[in-house]
Amino acid sequence: MKYRMCVLPGDGIGPEIVAQAVRVLDRVGEVFGHGFECATHLIGGAAIDATGGPLPEETLVAAKASDAVLLGAVGGPKWDAMDKAVRPEKGLLGIRKELGLFANLRPARLFDVLKNACCLRPDIVGQGLDVMVVRELTGGAYFGQPRGEEVRDGERVAFNTMIYSESEIRRIAKVGFETARKRSGKLCSVDKANVLDVSQLWREVVIDEARNHPDVELSHMYVDNAAMQLVRAPSQFDVIVTENLFGDILSDEAAVITGSIGMLPSASLGAGGPGLYEPIHGSAPDIAGKDLANPLATILSVAMMFTHSFGLPAEAAAVERAVAEVLGQGYRTGDIMSPGGALVGCSRMGELVAGAIRA
Ligand code: NAD
Repeated sequence: MKYRMCVLPGDGIGPEIVAQAVRVLDRVGEVFGHGFECATHLIGGAAIDATGGPLPEETLVAAKASDAVLLGAVGGPKWDAMDKAVRPEKGLLGIRKELGLFANLRPARLFDVLKNACCLRPDIVGQGLDVMVVRELTGGAYFGQPRGEEVRDGERVAFNTMIYSESEIRRIAKVGFETARKRSGKLCSVDKANVLDVSQLWREVVIDEARNHPDVELSHMYVDNAAMQLVRAPSQFDVIVTENLFGDILSDEAAVITGSIGMLPSASLGAGGPGLYEPIHGSAPDIAGKDLANPLATILSVAMMFTHSFGLPAEAAAVERAVAEVLGQGYRTGDIMSPGGALVGCSRMGELVAGAIRA
């Protein structure tokens, strides 16, 4: 089978980690007899430098024509002072919006062998940590209008609008329920319904949608409590569904308690068309170009691509198994290093995982 991939390395460590993910992809192709045709295009700061904008039309056309998009990361200090309208992050928000990727799946799972990289108390870690955050990705405060800055009463004010329509809430709630059904059947909807009108509508629609999913046990939690519970007793969660801004923060929190942000993949999905797969971390300018980055989040994003875009569960399992095997042998990048581990760079880690792929 042939698959067309749009590969967007982006900035900072993006090109290094994506190169390792493509290496693993190629190896899966050899072992399982698939063809992955990868076309590389520009996004973010690299695109600004080359074309003047963070999301060139050519990139968008290629992404729309592909079966799946693999992305590294965008941004960096070089572009921080630029006008907000052409910042690298606009490329990322733009491609999510253009591909209609409203659902972001972020699994935060602690690999057994990385238990000592986890910053929580051993008794809490011992209860297990395997949470899937389903984050709404194209609405809420990041996109709502009006937004901007103006002068009122002689001083500058800035504002954003957190807005959701009933249909936007219902479609992400459905993804939450369906995801929960495939796991333990427990869904926790996170909102701030005690204060925000938009959250009150969120809660009403989620409760209404629950009638179509009677086999899923639904609970609700305020976002401030959820942030606390994630570090106090994370094993109580299975699937969390929440809006864009809350999901951005909670999924990073869930990520860091698993050990390193360098371990966590994500999938962004729409109603049809290509999905977008990327690590949840940023472009890590502090370690870019030094072969220090952990490529495993990007490699595990390829496993999510096999599951969600290509319907290849055996190939996804082969990638996850290879990652666990290499970690089990003690190989570590700097961010997950612990006493007794064998320190390797980004490229060597990719090579090891590719070498461990078996049918
Ligand atoms: P970051 O995620 O890039 O880095 C945070 C910390 O984690 C840094 O110390 C970094 O070295 C480390 N880190 C991140 N990924 C790692 C990896 N794979 N291996 C080892 N260590 C890793 O977040 P930041 O520093 O807040 O942002 C840096 C830039 O990235 C900014 O320009 C920001 O806008 C951008 N950003 C992009 C995305 C994206 O492309 N999806 C997401 C977040 C931030």
